[in-house]
Amino acid sequence: MLADLWIRYHLNRKNRNMGDKENTIIGNQRLYRQQHLHEHFFNHLAGSKSNYQKSINQATSAILEFLEERDTPFTGIPTDQLMEKFSQVFIGEGNELTLRETLEELKELYLNDAVAFHHPKYVAHLNCPILIPALAAEMIISSVNSSMDTWDQSIGATLIELKLIEWTLTKIGYPHGADGVFTSGGTQSNLMGLLLARDHFIKESYKLDPKTEGIPVEAGKFRILCSEISHFSLKKSASLLGLGQKSIVPIPVDRQYKMDVISLNKAIHSLKAQGNIPIAIVATAGTTDFGSIDPLAEIAKIAREHNVWFHVDAAYGGGLILSDQHRPKLNGIEQSDSATIDYHKTFFQPVSSSGFFMRDKKFIRHISYYADYLNSKEQEADGVPNMVKKSIQTTRRFDALKLWMTLRVTGVKRLGQCIDHVIDLAEKSADLLEKDDAFELLNTPEMSAIVFRFIPLEKKLSPGQASHLNAHIRKCMFSEGQALLASTKINDEVYLKFTLLNPLTQLEDIREIIALIKKHAMTYFNNSLKTNTPWKEPMTL
Ligand SMILES: *Cc1c(COP(=O)(O)O)cnc(C)c1O
Repeated sequence: MLADLWIRYHLNRKNRNMGDKENTIIGNQRLYRQQHLHEHFFNHLAGSKSNYQKSINQATSAILEFLEERDTPFTGIPTDQLMEKFSQVFIGEGNELTLRETLEELKELYLNDAVAFHHPKYVAHLNCPILIPALAAEMIISSVNSSMDTWDQSIGATLIELKLIEWTLTKIGYPHGADGVFTSGGTQSNLMGLLLARDHFIKESYKLDPKTEGIPVEAGKFRILCSEISHFSLKKSASLLGLGQKSIVPIPVDRQYKMDVISLNKAIHSLKAQGNIPIAIVATAGTTDFGSIDPLAEIAKIAREHNVWFHVDAAYGGGLILSDQHRPKLNGIEQSDSATIDYHKTFFQPVSSSGFFMRDKKFIRHISYYADYLNSKEQEADGVPNMVKKSIQTTRRFDALKLWMTLRVTGVKRLGQCIDHVIDLAEKSADLLEKDDAFELLNTPEMSAIVFRFIPLEKKLSPGQASHLNAHIRKCMFSEGQALLASTKINDEVYLKFTLLNPLTQLEDIREIIALIKKHAMTYFNNSLKTNTPWKEPMTL
């Protein structure tokens, strides 16, 4: 049926391009052509309001179809097949479509094959299923389209964001006088953390204002210490901040994938002995691969001793503030100078929704600028809350509304239960893998990520063969689409990864995914037996 529509749509388009107008005028099209341009805009006029309602209803129907028709996380569509469809799309004058036609086309180009993060067997990356109150908020956010830079473009929206910042600060446990701002993601929040760390250090040590003067030559010796499995956005930030990736000093992790504090101490001493200048330590609360949490309180102590900035990247682990049961795992975060929390990971929010937090609002001065047309100093003196001075963005989405509606409707307690569920599920899934001889489990989950590989003892695989087999399994799972998992490399060997974030995922789903892994492993062994060419690329995908 869909293919049928696809052909019909292209015939229509072709005819239209040929100027054969008569053929293309289906009922909708006539309506569309008669529509006044002002009805395309969101406004108070009767025609616009009904067009808005109709359009949203049509979009909603397309989304509901996506939910109804897809019973797997992915269709497995080959990349070249999808690219081929795009090569037949021409954006140009005179071939506009109705919204309905555009949605039909969009199904073919995107919706039919989009990866379904809501599916219980999607266990690949840090993509959470999302909450409906937040989706209702998205409608309001994009329709009213407030911008968060200034009071005069946001009014109540600024107060909603401030209230949520305050709520998060309290949950983190920062003292009075802390502050924060919503950001586009953990990457931006980490950049802000390191920016404040750098500029605070420069200001304190060189009596230089980096905002106006730039960074001193000594900055070539600045060093930022973080665990060897911290997020790559730290390197990227260091590079953007003119410190170079060389400034990032990786500290080994222990057997639980937590930063080893003895090595951290040693590294600081040896850096200093070499004439380098440690300016910050970044702890990760919830590493992207393992969900492991660095020993925050111990690291805080070391940071204080050496008088360096302490940033906590809790992009993943931030969700633990919602859970009474697991909140203690974050103890020590309240001693940090700044922190990153991604609401679009463990608060079940649609992208983007994230926050940056600092223990003392005076640090804002390192990023605040004043523009007479936006936020003059006079306005500030009058107490007008302009958020632009806290952000590295100017025009900024009212993403806070999603979390607001979520906390008002779903509530903190139920969010906490979702976190508890996925952590519990991760523990049970790890147990399943541990008890199965065919698997090697790398971590005992502290959050909801499990790293493992399929490596049956009786096959006596070499490390290279095991990597090849597990990469094969992941590829097959992806192109089959029944269940999606991730892969990662640890010490240059390929491992598989489950990231569990869906409260709908049950242990039975995990059992079924494990069965799929075994199925693909079997075909791998059978193929290599049949062709008698073991460990070569068994099939092209
Ligand atoms: C995901 C992640 C980030 C990056 O966050 P984005 O929202 O993707 O920019 C940073 N740190 C950690 C530990 C993460 O897991």
